[in-house]
Amino acid sequence: MRRIAMVAVLALSGCTTVQRQQTERAVAEVLISDDQEFQLGLQVHEELKKQNTKFSEDPTVGLYVDGLARKLVGQANQDRKVEWMWFVIDDPNTINAFATPGGRIYVYTGLLLAADSEAEIIGVLGHEIGHVVARHSARQLVGAYGLQTVTEMALGKDAGEVSKLVAGLAGKGAMLAYGRDMELEADQYGARYAAGAGYDPRGLATFFEKLKAKYGDTGPVLTWFSTHPSNTDRINRLTTYIAANNLSGTETGGDGLKKVQAALGKK
Ligand code: ZN
Repeated sequence: MRRIAMVAVLALSGCTTVQRQQTERAVAEVLISDDQEFQLGLQVHEELKKQNTKFSEDPTVGLYVDGLARKLVGQANQDRKVEWMWFVIDDPNTINAFATPGGRIYVYTGLLLAADSEAEIIGVLGHEIGHVVARHSARQLVGAYGLQTVTEMALGKDAGEVSKLVAGLAGKGAMLAYGRDMELEADQYGARYAAGAGYDPRGLATFFEKLKAKYGDTGPVLTWFSTHPSNTDRINRLTTYIAANNLSGTETGGDGLKKVQAALGKK
């Protein structure tokens, strides 16, 4: 383990952002296996159930989110093979989505209701998928709690300590806030996957610009924005990335979103 850490430190000095991100991901891959990540995600899911999280059972909504997810995970699997799972949390007042280690993605009905276009939802989902592909949550957990605790958590050892930790995570909307670099990296994955699925990759940026204008930065419903600050720098960087990579798309998804919003009771 010592050797890995040293290699990482050496590799991290004096390299580009992309090289550093690749190195960090490679290190996370060595430290936490796919199976351990899956187990961590399972633990968080069990905790969410224990906290009486209300999951949507409406098939219209579930099938819709599933359909959108399919458009993205095929591409994501070329970057990292993951057993993706999708859950819709029935909470119309919370505009949020999050991913846990191992590929569980949670979408709130509030997010579906707040979107004006499918490209906006695709952008957010692509961003969350990006966090999983780049192993951000594993990297964050190790950074925050140390390797040993995280490994024990994945193994389900030391149940008391572990469940306290997982409960804390689930209570915070399931994950720690990621660093700025990780957010930018996830934005880029999101834009790439959105365009790959035929959607306008600017959907993510326009979505948070619009909500920011409507609610301000600190509205109680904007949970996603408490961990995803919408600032000019972030939007500029995303716009530059989209232009530099010639990403574009015109898919609208027809009236799918409208039908789902009607099923959710939107007038
Ligand atoms: Zn994020």
